Amino acid sequence: MSPVSIPFNRPSLIGDELKHVQEAIERGQLSGDGYFTKACNAQLVQMTEAKAALLTHSCTAALEMAAILCDLQPDDEVIMPSFTFVSTANAVALRGAVPVFVDIRPETLNIDPDQVKQAVTDKTKAIFAVHYAGFPADMDALAQIARSHDLLLVEDAAQALGSTYKGRPAGSLGDMAAFSFHETKNIISGEGGALTIMRPDLIERAEIIREKGTNRSLFLRGQVDKYTWVDIGSSFLPGELVAAFLNGQLEQADAIKTQRLALYDRYRAAFSDLAATGRVQLPLEPEGTTGNGHMFYFLMRDLEDRQAFITHMRDAGIIAPFHYVPLHSAPAGLKHARFHGNRLPVTDDITARLVRLPLFYELNSAIDAVISEVQRYFTEQR
Ligand SMILES: *Cc1c(COP(=O)(O)O)cnc(C)c1O
Repeated sequence: MSPVSIPFNRPSLIGDELKHVQEAIERGQLSGDGYFTKACNAQLVQMTEAKAALLTHSCTAALEMAAILCDLQPDDEVIMPSFTFVSTANAVALRGAVPVFVDIRPETLNIDPDQVKQAVTDKTKAIFAVHYAGFPADMDALAQIARSHDLLLVEDAAQALGSTYKGRPAGSLGDMAAFSFHETKNIISGEGGALTIMRPDLIERAEIIREKGTNRSLFLRGQVDKYTWVDIGSSFLPGELVAAFLNGQLEQADAIKTQRLALYDRYRAAFSDLAATGRVQLPLEPEGTTGNGHMFYFLMRDLEDRQAFITHMRDAGIIAPFHYVPLHSAPAGLKHARFHGNRLPVTDDITARLVRLPLFYELNSAIDAVISEVQRYFTEQR
């Protein structure tokens, strides 16, 4: 038996989540777009400085909405990293369009604008940029490419709520952004997400797509006198119970970020010696960005070192997982996507060496046990 048992993530109640759920029931509406959905949308507009925010049932749903709003047609191309979650690519493939994977920058693990530039063809319609570990991608460089080729720029900001780039919040850095409130993210509702929109001309269509292709939102605001099927769409909205729970979390957004950043900083400080000797590589925080304490990862020597470390931690009762299987090497990636160039060397290299440590709101002093176990691995290895 292990003396400790520390999961990678544990969801917790932080504020008035349950009180709000109770209130949603008392208000008598459990379907979507009621009081709490509106409250969350307003909180998200405030946090992201976007022109509009629409709650969805997942980031996956928000990405699918973004793909429809990009008007992707079969064979259109969307440039994105391979080093991401499947939903970034699925949203594009579901439209019959083709994800085109490019490599990431080794310092940030975010999409490499130089590679994006080279991957643009006359079929390219959009760039989907992921903010890995909550650190925004180089959005100015990407925006410039998007402008010069008339492409849409979408942020997969699943991990980045509360992060900033040159003083501007994630969610306001492209034409649209998708957020996640999955229980593994910073602010949670079990499953949940949102689409934020910077282009005023896309807002009305987004509302329609989200409400099964109907103009129900306009109807509820009294702007049309009946609602009907006007466009393609699906049911992308969450019910009020989920929104009520999320509302309680969003009210605590500052406290959550402060807590997570404190844990992140503890890890960084604890491993600065290991990093100084070159034994591990800590994340390099891109200049002009601030993170949100979403994730703490570091890079090890090679796959063997990384696997030995994961086993060492597991034997001590601590879950320290690796991350993505690059999409360009996944079965569906081979079938539905293509990638730029012959290889994605940085992606392949990073994937083999990256490991993540437990980081969640109530990790508290258990972080000491994680830190000493990490240090024990490297001492024993020497
Ligand atoms: C978590 C995540 C998603 C998916 O979010 P869901 O809310 O679970 O759909 C998509 N992209 C990235 C980069 C993520 O980290």
